[in-house]
Amino acid sequence: MVVRVAINGYGTIGKRVADAVAKQPDMKVVGVAKTRPSFEARAAIDRGFPLFVGGDGRMADFGAASLPVAGTVAEMLEIADIVVDATPDKRGRENAGLYDAAKVPVVFQGGERSDLVEVSFNALGNYAAAKGKRRVRVVSCNTTGLARAAAVLTRKFGVDQWEATVVRRAADPSDTARGPINGILPTFKLPSHHGVDVKSIFPDLAITTTAVVVPTTLMHVHVNHVRLTRAPRDSKELLEAFRTTHRFHVFEDWERVEGTPQIMEFARDRGSPRGDMMENVVWEHGVKSEGNDAYFFQGNHQESIVVPENIDAIRAMLELAPDGAASMAITDKTLGIGRG
Ligand code: NAD
Repeated sequence: MVVRVAINGYGTIGKRVADAVAKQPDMKVVGVAKTRPSFEARAAIDRGFPLFVGGDGRMADFGAASLPVAGTVAEMLEIADIVVDATPDKRGRENAGLYDAAKVPVVFQGGERSDLVEVSFNALGNYAAAKGKRRVRVVSCNTTGLARAAAVLTRKFGVDQWEATVVRRAADPSDTARGPINGILPTFKLPSHHGVDVKSIFPDLAITTTAVVVPTTLMHVHVNHVRLTRAPRDSKELLEAFRTTHRFHVFEDWERVEGTPQIMEFARDRGSPRGDMMENVVWEHGVKSEGNDAYFFQGNHQESIVVPENIDAIRAMLELAPDGAASMAITDKTLGIGRG
């Protein structure tokens, strides 16, 4: 069975999800929707995706740009089994009525609040909870990274208390409207929302987070201190727990990866589309245990980390795979995750 997937919103996340869907043996892209003509709209057509007009967009604007349009979002939904909403933060809530009217299940993104959906989703964390659901939210990039680590730590060691500081990138590389370009901005919501959001997947997890924004476009980094229930034998056991989980990539000491610039260079060198790094990144010398205390850094590529989760959310909702492991195996193979 090949399910027909529509993608409403074709920006940073939407265009990546569309390419990922096109690589799945059990899915196909029936359309992507944009509000305005742009180089990205042209790229969608060049990739063979039917282009539809979304939001308050006008057919005439696309006509003036000589971009062929297949119809409106409502028409796109008529030929879809499921839609991925990748429109900007909070726009998904406005679109929800459209999806309900078309009776099409929807995967929202982390910019929407959890009360919009039946389930907040992370494939390693709670795949089964999304089975058969019609409104699911793939949590944000930072929450996805924390949830993956939570899946590993809660299952292998147990977590008594976790404090994380989220060092956030200021903007995506293509974003010219955000900053800062010089400065470090504390997030004065204490604790930050990230820990609360992780609890939408792990309700009983004792996690609190704080955040600062720094002037970079190259990934987020999480600084973690976790009090584990069972003490790992040594730092190696802790590192192995990450290394043996497919959506983690461990850099060894000898690889000389000092920080996020080399991670991005690695992703470009290995030929990942758009230079994406969809795995959580952990450093060999950035993981340490001392008794029950665990310390680790993890890198998080904001533009791509949620892409495999969108694919697994579709499989879970439409029950296309027997379980999360089976779905993730297909997703990871088709997206080239876990190499090295
Ligand atoms: P984006 O601004 O890069 O892309 C959004 C796209 O949707 C744009 O092409 C915009 O023109 C289009 N659009 C706007 N209104 C629309 C409408 N009504 N109908 C159809 N299309 C519309 O945004 P993004 O970064 O891809 O974020 C999308 C979602 O993913 C948000 O919920 C965001 O929080 C979440 N997210 C973003 C990141 C990230 O780092 N960029 C990471 C994880 C999750």
